[in-house]
Amino acid sequence: MVLRNQRLKSRDGLLVQLWQDDQIGWGEVAPLPGFSQESLEQAQQATLHALAQWSQGASLSAVASAFSALPSVAFGLSMADAELRRQLPAEVSLHSAPLCHGDPDELYSRLGALPGDGNGNKVAKVKVGLYEAVGDGLNVTMLLEALPDLHLRLDANRSWAPAKAAAFARYVAPELRSRIAFIEEPCTTREQSLEFARDTGIAIAWDESVREKGFEVHAEPGLVAIIIKPTLIGSLTRCRELIAQSHRAGLVAVISSSIESSLGLNQLARMAAWLTPDVVPGLDTLDLMQAQLVRRWPDSPLPLIAEDQLEPIWHA
Ligand SMILES: [Mg+2]
Repeated sequence: MVLRNQRLKSRDGLLVQLWQDDQIGWGEVAPLPGFSQESLEQAQQATLHALAQWSQGASLSAVASAFSALPSVAFGLSMADAELRRQLPAEVSLHSAPLCHGDPDELYSRLGALPGDGNGNKVAKVKVGLYEAVGDGLNVTMLLEALPDLHLRLDANRSWAPAKAAAFARYVAPELRSRIAFIEEPCTTREQSLEFARDTGIAIAWDESVREKGFEVHAEPGLVAIIIKPTLIGSLTRCRELIAQSHRAGLVAVISSSIESSLGLNQLARMAAWLTPDVVPGLDTLDLMQAQLVRRWPDSPLPLIAEDQLEPIWHA
């Protein structure tokens, strides 16, 4: 696939497995090219260093929190630690917002069959900003008109100048706009995105902004949600802090994937069921893969790469 203008042919990462007494904890350390600051090589070095410290008795959650500059490492290690200490509940979030793409007929039937959330609303996600803004507006209108219980999360990845964002909104009738749950980062700057929300009544969410230096969660007019991508954010402690801050500010926190394996997605679904139980997480990325890894994702037909097929890198 193409991610931020670079081709990604394989998704590379590390799995960590901890043993202590009769407990096992897994974690996934998989920096996402084009999004993570750290390379896989840096992540691997830091992971091995942390595991060596842990095997000598250091607290892994403390070690993980110290890797704030290497979020994928902090996240993977803290999840392995949370599983080991039975802190991460086993219950998984049952729903995930499906990503809308492909053939419209197939899409309508898939969305038609989608279960509702706690309020009976269907939630799906559409990427916008890749082609013409007008086309995006027409497409969103078509989906919302075809399915009256559908609510859409849109993601523009900061791709619109204010004029393009306005062109998009012109093609979405005002009475449909309330069923756009939010649009993630419509414009290049936060100020422009807030202005867009004010001018159009379409709610927005922060995603890229959350990972910027000095970002603080606070309520702003038109802002309704904060997207939390743990692989890009850091330790479980840091993620929980952001979720709590979002809730205090009256914002929805949406746990979302950074194209993790089925093992990582499984843990994110458990995190979502635990920390954001009323919100549908954004985890519909497994169909980009050719196989599942160690743990199965519910109903996925993909073959499973088992533990004994992994390439061992280090062993205590
Ligand atoms: Mg986004």
